Amino acid sequence: MFSRGATNRTAVKRRGLGLLAACFFAAWCPAGSASALQAEVTPRFSVPGNVLVCRAGGLVPTGMVLKGFGQTAPFYYSRSEGDWVALLAVPLTADQGTAPLEIDWSKGSHALSVVVGPDPYPATRSLKVRGLRRRLARAETSGDSVLLRRREEGDAPEPLWTGRFRWPLDGTITVTSPFGARREYNNGQAAWRHQGVDLRAAAGSPVRSANSGRVVLVRRSMALTGGTVVVDHGYGLVSCYFHLSTIGVRRGQYVRKGEALGMSGSSGLSNGPHLHFEMRLHGVAVSPLQWVGNPDERAANLSAPRAKAS
Ligand SMILES: [Zn+2]
Repeated sequence: MFSRGATNRTAVKRRGLGLLAACFFAAWCPAGSASALQAEVTPRFSVPGNVLVCRAGGLVPTGMVLKGFGQTAPFYYSRSEGDWVALLAVPLTADQGTAPLEIDWSKGSHALSVVVGPDPYPATRSLKVRGLRRRLARAETSGDSVLLRRREEGDAPEPLWTGRFRWPLDGTITVTSPFGARREYNNGQAAWRHQGVDLRAAAGSPVRSANSGRVVLVRRSMALTGGTVVVDHGYGLVSCYFHLSTIGVRRGQYVRKGEALGMSGSSGLSNGPHLHFEMRLHGVAVSPLQWVGNPDERAANLSAPRAKAS
């Protein structure tokens, strides 16, 4: 049971040559052999918060998954890439050094690795906020935290997004607090890493979906994140919009790229009007800049597939 990757695009277009190539591969590499599979991961040198792109061609086993950093990512066929692709997040907590990855399928596996460089994010910043203990306690007792984590996993198996992501605000984008920053609240009452980016936004600015997807969480007053919308873009990729003042979408609604989700505000644990914009892959926070603002990052250009590994 193999699906042939389209690394050789000419062979796909020319049926005769495709069959010839398939016969060649079949003769050259026995079923289940790791050497039948051609796979690479980019970038080879990464940092925490980055997305790794694994492309696989040659004889591609059915049901193949990529494992690493505690995640298991299925492969899907990307027409724009012409390959089978799996995406994996390097967590903010990843250790520096060589990290093992593995492509697994029912009858074999294929070892890969990447090198994780030093954490590039800003040092600890102290913040003062009102009502921190009360909000933290409410986040736990209300089930907000559990619900948010569950929705951030996404549930649509195939990518729903198309092309590059856009910033969720109109006009000039100003990042007021970067992804990955270490934060300490109220002299050590709490400390955590900033899982998204804070964007300057006057109260009442339209907040737009960064790409197409399905709204999987709508909450008007979560303890920490305030007015909250989570959009599932499929394949374990979600975008999150926090501290909203008003929300104009329903749970389950499909939205297009740029469609208004609500208005920015300062609800929840917030020191003033802004938009917290977060992206997660397989539940792990990744830098949104890779998806919207960095033209060199190929992960941002992966389009939705026409078929998926099954
Ligand atoms: Zn934030």
